Parts: sequence; C-alpha cells; structure tokens
Amino acid sequence: MIPTRARTDTLVAGVGDLLVRHKAFIRRLQWTTIVLYVALLVLPVFLPLPTSRDFMWNNLTRFAQFVFWGIWWPFVILGTALIGRFWCGLLCPEGALSEFASERGAGRAIPSWMKWSGWPVVSFISTTIYGQLTSIYQYPKPAALLLGGSTLVAMVVGARYGKAKRVWCRFLCPVSGVFGLVSKIAPLHFKVESEVWRRPATQVGAISAVNCAPLIPIKTMQGGSACHMCGRCSGHRGAIRLAWRRPASDIVYGSGRAATRFETFLIVPVLLGLVPAALHWSSSSLFLFIRQWLAELCVSAHWIWPLSGRLPWWVLTNYPSASDVMTVIDGLSLLVLIAMSGVLASFIFIVALVACSLVLGRRSRVIHHLAQALIPVAAASLFCGLLSLTITQLHSDGIDLPFIDRGRGIIVLLAGAWSVAIASRIAALYTASLRRRALATTLMAIPTIAFSWGWLVVFLP
Ligand code: SF4
Repeated sequence: MIPTRARTDTLVAGVGDLLVRHKAFIRRLQWTTIVLYVALLVLPVFLPLPTSRDFMWNNLTRFAQFVFWGIWWPFVILGTALIGRFWCGLLCPEGALSEFASERGAGRAIPSWMKWSGWPVVSFISTTIYGQLTSIYQYPKPAALLLGGSTLVAMVVGARYGKAKRVWCRFLCPVSGVFGLVSKIAPLHFKVESEVWRRPATQVGAISAVNCAPLIPIKTMQGGSACHMCGRCSGHRGAIRLAWRRPASDIVYGSGRAATRFETFLIVPVLLGLVPAALHWSSSSLFLFIRQWLAELCVSAHWIWPLSGRLPWWVLTNYPSASDVMTVIDGLSLLVLIAMSGVLASFIFIVALVACSLVLGRRSRVIHHLAQALIPVAAASLFCGLLSLTITQLHSDGIDLPFIDRGRGIIVLLAGAWSVAIASRIAALYTASLRRRALATTLMAIPTIAFSWGWLVVFLP
C-alpha cells in the first residue's frame, strides 16, 4: 500500500503534468481572459458614470470595478500566497499578450538597462501613487489608461525583445516584484532535483526543449519566486515536478538567503509603509491635518490656485459631475502622507533589522535575509487592505459581510506572529546562542506587533 504522503506527492506532481498535457486548453483559457479583460477595461470608458441607483448587477461599470478591484486584485494576492504564481503563468492577460507578441516579434536581445533589478520596485511605486491620484478604483478612464497602457507596453516589449518570451513580466511588470515576494510563502513550487537532472541522456530518454517564458535558468532554479508556474517544464528530464514544501521554507533556507536590497526596499518602505497609506488615506486624520496645514500655508502666501485649480483627470481626479475633484493641495497632501508612511515604516523596521544584524554578528546579509521574514505580515497587510475595496463595493450594493473586519484583524495578527516565528528561525541560522536568538526575535517582534496593531485599529475603530 502506498503511504499517504507519497500518494499526495504523486497527486500534486500529476497536477503539474496535467498542465503540460493541456497546453491548448490553457491557451483557450488565456484568450477567454483576454477578451473579458479588454471588454471590462474598454466598454465602461464609453458609458456614463454610475449613479447611486446603479449596482454591479445592472451596471457594467460597477461590475467591472468589482471584478478588477474587489475580486481580481486582492484574490490574486491571496492565491499567490496560497498556491504560488499560477495566475501569472496560466491566466494573466498581460503576460499572455506579451508572449503572443514575442512569438511573432523581432526577437532582439534584451538590453542590459532592462535587466536592472530595481524596475519592478520603481514601477510598483509609481503605478500605486498614480492610481491613487487619479482614483483608479473609482473611475474607468484611469483604469483603462493605467492597465491598458501597461498591457500595450508589455506587447511592445514582447514584440521587440526575446523570442516567445515574457521579457516584460520578468523585468518590468509593476506587480512582478510583489508576486515574487508573496509566492515565497506558498506551500507549492516546481521542484528541481539536480541529481536526477545530471543523469546521462541515455537514462532519461528523449528530451524535448522547454520554453520557459519568464527566462528562468530552470536547471539551477531555487525556490522559484520568479517561476510563473506555467507547468511547461513539469516532468522535464524526470527532474522537475510540482511539489509541496513547508510554507516559507524558501524564505528561511532558499532564495531568502540571497535576498537583495531591492527586495528589502519593496518590503519595508513600500509594502509596509507606502501601501497602507495609499489604501487608507481618504479616512486618515493625518491626511486632513496635512491638507489643512498646506492650505493655510497657501492662504498666507496668497496662492489660491492650488486650493481651487483643477487638473485633467489623467493627472488628478477631476469628476465635477460626481462631486469628486482633487485639488493640487489634495494631491500634495496625499504625496506627503505616503512619503511620511514610507519613512516611518523604514525607521521602525530598519532600526530593528540593523539591531538584529548587530546581535547576530554584524553581517549585512542578515539584514536582507531577516527582512524577508516580514513577507507574511506585508502580504496580509496588502490583502486585507485591498479587501477594503471589496467590502466598500459590496456595502454600496447593500451587501454587508458580518465579522469581516474582525477576520481581517485576525489575519494580520496571525501573519505578524508568523513573521516573528520566521525571524526566529532565520536568527537560528546565524547564531547558536539561545540568548542572542531570543533577543533578535524580540527586536523583530516589536515593530511587527506595532504594525499589526496599527491595522487592527483601522479595521476595528
Ligand atoms: S520554471 Fe519556467 S517553465 Fe517551469 S513552471 Fe516555472 S515558469 Fe514555467
């Protein structure tokens, strides 16, 4: 009789093999997603703005808003944390269109500037801020501009660089950095067994080439945070299979050990600072305080235009018919709030990380490795923050989800506790002393608890 663990492993590996066998079905699925994506992005632009009598079941614009921001964005993050980047490899319309263009494109070599590891960070920050300034969650035009523009650029990049590759997804996509980080906590990955890989070709049989669209050196793939989980390499040389792993083991023993400063930057000031401010600025009393302060400065300097002047909708929110106009002062206040939040998160977490590295022996690599322990709390913060969009949209349609705020609070608290536990496991790799390990864990626990508590106050006012 086959033991349960072996049976489960075979079953999971079988799911990976299914993806290889059903490429045509996956292609059809991708085209269906593309058609839906384009329709929901473009059609609402030509419709009048919804009124208070419109709901998601009788108004296409409201329906599209709910699909994009109430379901797609938060639940792709959740899915990535639970099962890895299957969205990227199997369903993402942008990635599929970029690869489609690349199959028929010029196939040029990828320029070295494009391979800079900081692009996903820069593009995530800029699209997040631009999306808030133009109210992307509320209006179809900025959504079409930002998402549609990103898709067009992805196709242009695909048409110029690489052959049947996803150069855009690998190096430039605004969310690839975030997905790569979040996928590190997933319990599923494509495992490469290098011993098996090294077997001579005579033992392996016929070996067909694999097109890894995101350009991963499959043979040496570790952890797989860049892997789109398309499954095309499943079973290759008998050395690759979809497999379970201990959640977050990639952070402690795998790619987390080779973490870069860009990943630390994406986790600390961005996911733990900028994102919470960008998701909750409209209900922030600090935002009102900054706006009041800037307004008084303008009045005392006799600058009236920043208080009343309007800019086009593609620069700042400008919908007088919906009584929704952002002045220059509003936009500036938002930028100041976001910057302050990033600085505050950097301060509280970087101080703890540096102190830990000193406790554990002054190794700068320790800082980046320990910063990876914060991925669960950062992912939970992003998911629960984005759920606000789901909750608000459902609420405006008369649907209230009981206990959802308590649920969100519990998720962030549990994720915070998990982050502290991971930090403790990482600390154990750098010191044999229980005292030093306990001190390092406590140092990481202080800002993590403070951060989780901050969300709890937002969820349960
Ligand atoms: S390594 Fe490449 S080919 Fe294999 S599953 Fe990941 S993205 Fe697909």
